[in-house]
Amino acid sequence: MLRNALIYFDHNATSPVLPEARRAWLEACDRFPGNPSSPHRLGSRAEAALSEARARLATILACDPMDIVWTSGATESNNMVLYNAAAAGSPGREVWVSSIEHPSILEPCRALLPDACRLIPVRPSGVVDVEWLTENLARTRPALVIALAANNETGVIQPWKAVLEACRRFGVPYFCDATQWIGKLHGSGLGACDFLSGSAHKFGGPRGVGFLKCPERGRTVALLRGGSQEDGRRAGTENVPGVLSMLAAMERRESTLGSGEAAARLQWRFEVEQELRESLPGARIVGEQEERLWNTVMALMPEADCRHRWVVKLDKMGFAVSTGSACASGKEEASHVLKAMGLSAAESGRALRFSSGWETRKEDWEQLLEALQKVARTNRKR
Ligand code: PMP
Repeated sequence: MLRNALIYFDHNATSPVLPEARRAWLEACDRFPGNPSSPHRLGSRAEAALSEARARLATILACDPMDIVWTSGATESNNMVLYNAAAAGSPGREVWVSSIEHPSILEPCRALLPDACRLIPVRPSGVVDVEWLTENLARTRPALVIALAANNETGVIQPWKAVLEACRRFGVPYFCDATQWIGKLHGSGLGACDFLSGSAHKFGGPRGVGFLKCPERGRTVALLRGGSQEDGRRAGTENVPGVLSMLAAMERRESTLGSGEAAARLQWRFEVEQELRESLPGARIVGEQEERLWNTVMALMPEADCRHRWVVKLDKMGFAVSTGSACASGKEEASHVLKAMGLSAAESGRALRFSSGWETRKEDWEQLLEALQKVARTNRKR
């Protein structure tokens, strides 16, 4: 449907619901009308469906099903981790957080731990500085280390395995926001992180549902209180259709990943970037020397026009693109991610993000390139 209206290059903001996920949602509405906490059979059936979904997710991530808490999405999961860190707060112990995290981590971190929040630097290429982390862990032990799996703006893949290893070595818990990783790359192994967040709508599931993998069953402090759901870790009636739909989407993506289709899409991305550099003098790819998600291209466009004008012009030509993180779009604040990479506010003001999906075709990228060249030509004439 979306395809008819616009060619969609904003999958990092949200991705259309997959047919499998839609079917699973509708089916769950029919099959599991009960509240999982209710004492009757319909309640038990709904509860059993949730348990089964927990086991399926745990299989993908390789973790204990009981460590999974269903949430309303990554924003809630992320807030929950910071709330826990603040509630557990040992005075004087810091939380170290990468400077390129999503605002749903950085803002609660600053608000709840105003004096205990230390930023982990990133390299100019957009990757978290693991050397800095290891050197500093050898000197002091923070209460928690936070570094995401892949950045939503630049698509730069982060060294979460190395971060996990360093944290293990020094006995420090590690929280990884895998919202942009899951569904684009295999989820296996992510369950080894002490805390892990994910969100269905980034990989073809519905909006408003996600999860948090957390450690130490029974010791997690609830952010939402007023019910004993999720072992007392998150109050509120569980979203059974949402959870089952999320799992259907995730399993579909995992099986696509198994078919090796990501490699072809990575090749398209390389070709698009090459063409973009050649045909738009002055354009630059952000994080180009690093490994990046196969679906994401963040480009600094030639100087001629402000980036919102690019978005508007491309929209009129039938392409939905973004200026970066959806949450920061629309207000003219320089991106904290690009700032952390050492880019100036003026450079950040030229950034456009093109994020494709599994269903995006090579021809869609080619048409986008043509449109970009057309806009650049009209910009030059003005
Ligand atoms: N973390 C990252 C890395 C994200 O990209 C997003 C969505 N932009 C979020 C968290 C928030 O996710 P949700 O929409 O599920 O609240």
